[in-house]
Amino acid sequence: MKRCIVPFFIAHRGCPHRCVFCDQLKISGSKNQFPAISEIIDTVIAYRKSSRFAAVEVAFFGGSFTALPVEEQEQLLLPLQPLIADGRVDSVRVSTRPDAVNALNAAYLKGMGVSTVELGVQSMSDEVLLLAGRGHNSQSVHEAVSFLKDAGITVGLQLMPGLPGDTPARSLDSLQTVLGMRPDFLRIYPTIVIAGTPLENLYNSGSFRPMTLAGAVDLCKVMLHRALRSGVPVIRIGVQPTAELQYPGVIIAGPFHPAFRQLVEGELCFDLLVKLTTTSVCGEGPLTINCSPFRVSDVVGQRKVNMHRLSSRYGITVAAVRGDEKLSPSELCIASGGVECTANIIRDLDYSREVITHV
Ligand code: SF4
Repeated sequence: MKRCIVPFFIAHRGCPHRCVFCDQLKISGSKNQFPAISEIIDTVIAYRKSSRFAAVEVAFFGGSFTALPVEEQEQLLLPLQPLIADGRVDSVRVSTRPDAVNALNAAYLKGMGVSTVELGVQSMSDEVLLLAGRGHNSQSVHEAVSFLKDAGITVGLQLMPGLPGDTPARSLDSLQTVLGMRPDFLRIYPTIVIAGTPLENLYNSGSFRPMTLAGAVDLCKVMLHRALRSGVPVIRIGVQPTAELQYPGVIIAGPFHPAFRQLVEGELCFDLLVKLTTTSVCGEGPLTINCSPFRVSDVVGQRKVNMHRLSSRYGITVAAVRGDEKLSPSELCIASGGVECTANIIRDLDYSREVITHV
């Protein structure tokens, strides 16, 4: 069933301090107003009416929910109870810090109808966490995930490759560790430098260098592929391109792109096309590429980059890219000279020995 998210941004509420990279007000465009009870109820009812056939999920983003005083958590969750009881709200999600989760508050959330908790993990390197000013270590992540799972709560983990002290190898190690915890989903946000954060000072002083866009896409390609192979969905790659974030002067540096995920997915498609065209027995002549209808734009690439690269690097001309309902989103089929070959992004690409050197 389609899901309609009713978002409430509680920017920085509950946060014990600011992490070096973070400015939720700029990321979300939120005005940092704690929603009043009437606002919560009215907003949910309005969303419910406008999306009659979708499941409604209320989400409290942008702060450290479980670090809020209990009275404030109640102020947000109590108004939802009648709406949950009569089916107008199907689920509730909150985001928080790993060191603000324990057995008691995990059970409390479950009892108040919270079905999903997203943890800002960022890295599983203690050195990177220290340099990011997180105020917790990797052990807190292991413990928080256990508490949440024991309480029967769906767990999403957020990773942030490219923080100070991070390297591609460390990011991949962090990914491997969090995949070992079997989260229900991941989000991957390559680090960008936002105006007014301590990270901007580090950047301006020359002591922090963000990843390039190409380096971040390369790294996230491998991260996405490893997550897919592990069966863990990655529900977002790259920060949400809100209007506020894209105001001039807000993003100072770093691998921001409004369609970052598409760049990553396009690279996976390109790598599979190269593999297919260089190892298959397809005949001479222009190539037709068939893929899931959802994949056509990834296969073509932004500004047709994949078509251009196939031509300039491998001398391959693509006659057409066609959507084919019978193919899954991970399958590509090439055809030429009456011969067809199909391959699968998850199964047939192998980045297990990938060394990413350019950051
Ligand atoms: S990263 Fe999370 S804990 Fe750190 S300041 Fe931002 S919202 Fe708060």
